[in-house]
Amino acid sequence: MKLRVGILGATGAVGQKFVALLADHPWFEVTGLAASERSAGRSYGDVVHWLENTSLPSKAAKLEVQNANEALLDCDFVFSGLDSSVAGSLEEVYARAGYPVISNARNFRMHPTVPLLIPEVNPDHLNLIDSQDWGSEGYIVTNPNCASVGITMALKPLYDAFGIECVHATTMQALSGAGYPGVASLDAVSNVVPFISGEEEKVESEPLKILGTLAGNGVQPATFRVSAQCNRVPVIDGHLAAVSVKFKKTGVSIESALQAIGQFSIPREVSNLPGSPERALELMVDPTHPQPRRHVNYGGGMTVTIGRVRSCPILDLKFICLVHNTIRGAAGGAILNAELLASKGKLKHRSSVELAGVAS
Ligand code: NAP
Repeated sequence: MKLRVGILGATGAVGQKFVALLADHPWFEVTGLAASERSAGRSYGDVVHWLENTSLPSKAAKLEVQNANEALLDCDFVFSGLDSSVAGSLEEVYARAGYPVISNARNFRMHPTVPLLIPEVNPDHLNLIDSQDWGSEGYIVTNPNCASVGITMALKPLYDAFGIECVHATTMQALSGAGYPGVASLDAVSNVVPFISGEEEKVESEPLKILGTLAGNGVQPATFRVSAQCNRVPVIDGHLAAVSVKFKKTGVSIESALQAIGQFSIPREVSNLPGSPERALELMVDPTHPQPRRHVNYGGGMTVTIGRVRSCPILDLKFICLVHNTIRGAAGGAILNAELLASKGKLKHRSSVELAGVAS
């Protein structure tokens, strides 16, 4: 029997990606959808402004959207694609009520006992859930910000091989990263907006937690410094980043950096999961690659592509990386997190939950 899944924030850009990606999932089945009071009380098919380029799954279309602020969904665990203004309080309510919460929102990412997880990079951080205490069996697991995830995956093999002293990253981020309706068309078309609220802080802090080491009931963060400049560009999907790195080790050649990236392999516990791509990182040799329009869907949107690896005259090495922001950077990454949890026996069937009032 499949595990029953609820989606909080089901009407948003990330929520819709969950609905699309879970339509034929071998282990999970969507049984509950929730959003704000604006959407509640009508069928998902009636209320959603469907943005995906696949048809709306008929089973999901028939589900009635619940008000996330009023009642708990009857399911085994929830994915959260909630706006961060409400994600913190609602995710906590679910964890306290005993649910596993697999979240995309920023609210708990830096909480000391909440894993900030990329299964191919830090699967051991899942052990942190044993240190969480919500007064129930519930717990929260998060995935990184949609720009942080691509940069961190690209840095992982370099960090392991050579150590890192500092990183400078300039991002060119897609419009879908702002949700729907997102950036106003008069700001977006034929333009670049050199500010994304809160984004630089996330890119400067999250990679340090993800690449940190488990220590007691928390994570000892990596100690390198990151400087980020984040820009919104007129691309629909795919965050591109231009990254320069200074290594701890001196004299690192381009060949050894390429070898480290090329040899990055997916841990066995992750490679067998249904959502795992064949390659987590794909090195591109054409100097005009990667490009969002051409390469964003590599590995079903779960592969991070890297190109233009070359020496940096100021730091040591520079490269370009590309990540699909709503798949690897959101719903796809969260589903892989849930698959890893399920494979470790951390998700299980719950008896029907008594619908309860939810404090706002
Ligand atoms: P979005 O399109 O604006 O969707 C937000 C969702 O939250 C909608 O379902 C909305 O429901 C719901 N919501 C808003 N206010 C609510 C309230 N008061 N009570 C209950 N539900 C409420 O945003 P998104 O891009 O999907 O992002 C969702 C979350 O994922 C955010 O925390 C975002 O930071 C994070 N994230 C996004 C991306 C990305 O690439 N877009 C990547 C990684 C992480 P209604 O439709 O009823 O208003």
